[in-house]
Amino acid sequence: MTTAAPDTMDSSGPVILRRAEHPVSRRDIDPDALKVLYRLYRNGFKAYLVGGAVRDLFLGKRPKDFDVVTDARPAQVKKLFSNCMLIGRRFRLAHIRFKGGKIIEVATFRKEPDEECTENTDPNTSFGTPEEDAFRRDITINALFYDIADFSIIDYTGGLEDLRSGLIRMIGSPHERYVEDPVRMWRVLRHAARLGFAIEEETAREIGLHRELLCACSGARLYEELNKDIASGFLCRVLALFRAYGVLPDLLGAAGAFLQEDPHAFDMLLPLLEAVDKRARAGSPLSQTAVLSIVLFPWARQVLTKETGPGDDRMKALHDSLLASGMSVTIPKAMKAGIVQTLCIVERMLSAMESGRMRWSLKKRARYSDASVVFSLIARGEVIESKDPFGRIFRETHPSASGFRKKRRPSRWRKSRDKK
Ligand code: ATP
Ligand code: MG
Repeated sequence: MTTAAPDTMDSSGPVILRRAEHPVSRRDIDPDALKVLYRLYRNGFKAYLVGGAVRDLFLGKRPKDFDVVTDARPAQVKKLFSNCMLIGRRFRLAHIRFKGGKIIEVATFRKEPDEECTENTDPNTSFGTPEEDAFRRDITINALFYDIADFSIIDYTGGLEDLRSGLIRMIGSPHERYVEDPVRMWRVLRHAARLGFAIEEETAREIGLHRELLCACSGARLYEELNKDIASGFLCRVLALFRAYGVLPDLLGAAGAFLQEDPHAFDMLLPLLEAVDKRARAGSPLSQTAVLSIVLFPWARQVLTKETGPGDDRMKALHDSLLASGMSVTIPKAMKAGIVQTLCIVERMLSAMESGRMRWSLKKRARYSDASVVFSLIARGEVIESKDPFGRIFRETHPSASGFRKKRRPSRWRKSRDKK
């Protein structure tokens, strides 16, 4: 492959790689995304593939989604596609729907909104040129365009150079871009972790100076970001980089601070996260409840160890500690309750392994199967093949224990029976 040398970058325009000079082939582009690109182009509009899709195709990886940008306005896009829905209040995006729930997102070129821009500002003022659209994106390798008109790659921000040298670089001033949207710090670390790229000096340094801004982000948005990393199969590498940059306490409050400050706890977590990622990459991901329980396990363990009361008290103590932990990521209420239950059952399983005695009633708990999986990871470093991994490990370790011990009836019931 011949590629344009960095010194050929013309300050007055983008670097353009012709088809013969880059590896991105239409064969690897989703056929529905191609349909969208061609229909826009044949109707006289510019139509570019953009973002993660171009980046991943250039690196020979399979993209997760295919996003399109165009100079067609949202209403014009809607006219071209009967399967199109416009979404978004201020800046409208077109979602073109295909079979199997697939969505190709089509955005109109836009520029970074002005500072005085409010909810009521006319959205037409935020439409921009392809160049403005490239410069409002986060990192250089995410701002490449693939032009369906001649199959060339257009680079306004130096992304090709950074792709080749394996560098994550914020577009523009990292200080300003992080203040504008702190989630970009998360994105920098995510892409560095996923691709194994280095982070450009200023892009990296400014994370140290601005990481606290993450605490003020919408908790729901941070939760969405966390789920992307859980699903990606790179959670382990992302969290390790979060720790290296000191952002764990900003995101996960007391639980993050515990992992940040206790290297043993974090080292213990790493192989578990690797096993979680292996499952996600193999297409059999663990439930979100199980994954979040694993992430919180080292911290939860020391909370539970301090509380010596009966099971319900310990569950309440863990729940209260989680609420008071100052986590910036908002885990939905029901999920939080599920995690607390899972962690308490895991704790019971760990002590049952030591004592060789287990209550059968535990099996009826809603989160038993999540706990069984989490336990298997902790005990064996993998999820062993079984409907009930804990049951299997327990029986293997304590063959003479005849399974789960039956719980005696509640004493109040017994008392009233004895009176009769
Ligand atoms: P993935 O492989 O996870 O989909 P991606 O880079 O495609 O990676 P998306 O969340 O799909 O990530 O975003 C699509 C594109 O939108 C990005 O490539 C980037 O150009 C732009 N983008 C996303 N988030 C931001 C942001 N916070 N600031 C600026 N640009 C962003
Ligand atoms: Mg994407």
